[in-house]
Amino acid sequence: MQFVSTRGGSPVSLDAALVNGIADDGGLYVPIELPSFATADFDGAGTIPEVAAVLLRPFFTDSALRDDMAQILAETFSFPILSTPLPTNDGHAALLELYHGPTAAFKDVGAGFLAACLSRLEGDEAAPLTILVATSGDTGGAVAAAFNERPGMRVVVLFPEGRVSARQAHQLTCWSDNVLSLSVQGAFDDCQALVKFALADPVLSSKYRFSSANSINIGRLLPQSTYYANASLRHYDSTGRKPGFVIPTGNLGNALACIMAREMGLPIGPIVLATNANRTIPDYFETLQWLPRASVQTLASAMDVGDPSNMERLRSMLGDAEVLRDCLGVTSVDDTQIEAEIKRDFAEFGFATCPHTATAIHTWRQFDTELRAETDWILVATAHPAKFETIVEPLIGVAVPLPKELAEILSRPSHSVAINADLDALAVAMAEHFG
Ligand SMILES: *Cc1c(COP(=O)(O)O)cnc(C)c1O
Repeated sequence: MQFVSTRGGSPVSLDAALVNGIADDGGLYVPIELPSFATADFDGAGTIPEVAAVLLRPFFTDSALRDDMAQILAETFSFPILSTPLPTNDGHAALLELYHGPTAAFKDVGAGFLAACLSRLEGDEAAPLTILVATSGDTGGAVAAAFNERPGMRVVVLFPEGRVSARQAHQLTCWSDNVLSLSVQGAFDDCQALVKFALADPVLSSKYRFSSANSINIGRLLPQSTYYANASLRHYDSTGRKPGFVIPTGNLGNALACIMAREMGLPIGPIVLATNANRTIPDYFETLQWLPRASVQTLASAMDVGDPSNMERLRSMLGDAEVLRDCLGVTSVDDTQIEAEIKRDFAEFGFATCPHTATAIHTWRQFDTELRAETDWILVATAHPAKFETIVEPLIGVAVPLPKELAEILSRPSHSVAINADLDALAVAMAEHFG
């Protein structure tokens, strides 16, 4: 399978798309054409790695990784992805729990797969590949966890000092020597700018062999499609009905993976994007005008995106707003509704939900009776509530039990280096740490 930039140019191999991350022209890589499947193609595939092996095979036909797929998938899905039916009398709904990985959020799947692929393609103990990642919270932890202790690979995580929660900070700073965690005096934008400067600096780039692991890498989308494929197949096998999905959405990475699975023929019904108060996508569907803007802060902070970069990919794969709004639903859920939802979920279901997940459950509650009667719904739970305990616990009045993966991380010693937001400070910190 070959990939092209959303902005044109000549096709590249999957391996090049994985290593480059973003195309030279600034565009995003999309597959030249999507393979097409019938449900019978998955006969005998009963687990996510087995479903993933079938779904991803066409993408990897001419990849150097082709023969390593079983091992790569075993590494990626080293934790369970559970589907839990919700106790409701109002139609069928289940929660797809994507948060049982090392940092308790769905980004562990994409980061784990990308790490498994990149370390095989580019890992070199004599001249390690150095992944630079700027993070406002969740992404950096998932990337650090995924590359932690991988031979021939290094990670530099840059996060804004004092602007991530205590638990998030710990997830960014508790790794082995191949991960350098830098607490930057500045905002997230300063961290991002530093990464850009470093990638563009010829001296630093030749010394460290830089790469980035941002969310627009196709290597993060492909494995995400597999949990939608598996969930829809399991539901279809047992009920004969195609489930609909409601997906908390920020940068559109997770939702695009579901859309791709449906395009490839998986038995998926309606797809609804649940956004927070950042209304760029709902406004686009309503007005047909694409107006990216600065993000606003919300309780569902990992979805605070005003310019969702994967929209360029979605438009290039499916079409513009006129097309998109016919095949996708979209909602916007504000902070007041998120708070009310977290309280209501705890009262009704007996467990807490994270602020991101709450946008999906709230969306489902707003559906009319017909929509619930004609479709079985799978609501996507993107993070464990214990990750956002400072928001969730005051609302429900009790402590959220720590899942074992988070407890394990929080028990590790943590260490970070504070730097000013300039390239010299970054270079010094890296030289001191890596030599
Ligand atoms: C990143 C993230 C999201 C948003 O996912 P996108 O792929 O950016 O749409 C939602 N919830 C949580 C917990 C996240 O970490």
